[in-house]
Amino acid sequence: MAIQRTFSIIKPDATRRNLTGAINAKIEAAGLRIVAQKRIHMTPAQAGQFYAVHKERPFYGELCEFMASAPVVVQVLEGENAIAKYREVMGATDPAAADAGTIRKEFALSKGENSVHGSDAPETAAEEIAYFFAGIELVG
Ligand code: ATP
Ligand code: MG
Repeated sequence: MAIQRTFSIIKPDATRRNLTGAINAKIEAAGLRIVAQKRIHMTPAQAGQFYAVHKERPFYGELCEFMASAPVVVQVLEGENAIAKYREVMGATDPAAADAGTIRKEFALSKGENSVHGSDAPETAAEEIAYFFAGIELVG
């Protein structure tokens, strides 16, 4: 498997509880390198565009409001098989179903307020990285 990049968000429930460092420690312990990172506060419209794929889902409004409710940390992670590896490190969407030791098992509050986002495929990773980062910010 080649070196890949994936896109990550440390969500408002986690930044509010001062968990950025604890989450980054798990990311780095898994062998993923944080090659770009910044703290931003999205507007509901920016969150809505990011999660546009979920527009028809009943939780879309709540999700956009939540993502704009406090600052988030957006990141680019790099490593061997990074997309699948980060999803493993995150754990299942619903923390009640997440494996022991995963970020969501340890830190998530609910299915909605679940501490982190990670891309689900190479195409979405590339799109999500380009939405938040300029090429000049990706220094490896
Ligand atoms: P993410 O895309 O954030 O990495 P995911 O891929 O595990 O998470 P998706 O199915 O893509 O999960 O859902 C996107 C996000 O929408 C979830 O992370 C969660 O914050 C929210 N969400 C998903 N299902 C629900 C639900 N039933 N109720 C409330 N919020 C939900
Ligand atoms: Mg998803």
